Amino acid sequence: MAYYQKRLRLFKLVDKIKLWPSRKGKLHGIRSIAISGEQALVVTHCNKEFTIRDSKKSRAARWLRNKWFTELCPECRIPEWKIKKYSATQFTKNQGSWLNKTTDFNMLTRR
Ligand SMILES: [Zn+2]
Repeated sequence: MAYYQKRLRLFKLVDKIKLWPSRKGKLHGIRSIAISGEQALVVTHCNKEFTIRDSKKSRAARWLRNKWFTELCPECRIPEWKIKKYSATQFTKNQGSWLNKTTDFNMLTRR
């Protein structure tokens, strides 16, 4: 059960911040995320579609927690304030409490 909740948590995090680092570290803005069990279908603002798996130990989870990225996707046109917010956000060991403090990320979905 605990394992299941951990899985959901990364998806929830991604759903909140609406950002996704690609394998090469390019940060995309997420248009939509459709969670289906252990996987989620992500559509970016630059119309890329891919399936992600939820794992706190995944590369993407680590990149998101550390707020790493090598470049911004020019097609996604992520607003600068959003990047600043992302960079200024402190991730804690308990991602649940982090999410509670950042409900204003909800407004990021509308551009
Ligand atoms: Zn993009």
